Amino acid sequence: MSVIEHKMVAVTAPSGAGKTTIVRSLMREYPNMAFSVSATTRKKRPHEVDGVDYYFLSEKEFKTRVANGEFVEWEEVYPDVFYGTLKSEILSLQAQGKVVIFDIDVKGAGNLKKEFQEKCLTIFIKPPSIDALRKRLEARHTEDAKTIQKRLDKAAFELSFENKFDVTLVNDVLEIARLNAKKIVGTFFRFKIPL
Ligand code: ADP
Ligand code: 5GP
Repeated sequence: MSVIEHKMVAVTAPSGAGKTTIVRSLMREYPNMAFSVSATTRKKRPHEVDGVDYYFLSEKEFKTRVANGEFVEWEEVYPDVFYGTLKSEILSLQAQGKVVIFDIDVKGAGNLKKEFQEKCLTIFIKPPSIDALRKRLEARHTEDAKTIQKRLDKAAFELSFENKFDVTLVNDVLEIARLNAKKIVGTFFRFKIPL
């Protein structure tokens, strides 16, 4: 990719740990950040907007784009459910001078780190416990019981990736996590990346 001198921030964690919440909070703190809208084959949730939360694609369309080399990374995050980051999305946000922020699974975040190295800060959001994760997923009311169980089954595996990332951010008391996220990203912005 051509425009890789820009800084990027990837926020990763098991589902329900608080990625979306922390990403939104960071975007309010730092208006120069812009969210990388991913493509997915999962069903749209009622409140979600195509092109804002995700680009919702059929599996056929997704696989065509994979074959055309349009993704910087993609994963089958859950069985038969695909998610990926489009190269065009990153380039278009960077052309607007934005720091791109990603909400991404642990494998995808690892792949972004490999691709962009020190230009991409990877933040791992750690829930206080698996039990807290379950409660948060239940309280969010966006998945049925079976889907929640699938996400929890995967969480223990995802938690084992913690030491692959630049920073761990514990999300227990939300206001403390928000403040720590702001500090971590502020420090990264001040750090001069060698070109
Ligand atoms: P993710 O994007 O990682 O799946 P979300 O940001 O959607 O997670 O958070 C999952 C649910 O937990 C949401 O309903 C959110 O409002 C809630 N939540 C996030 N952080 C906390 C926290 N520190 N304490 C309690 N609930 C939280
Ligand atoms: P959700 O269905 O809850 O929106 O997201 C499920 C998981 O897919 C989350 O861990 C989320 O971070 C991840 N995800 C979202 N977009 C991408 C992406 O572009 N690539 C990868 N690898 N994972 C993604």
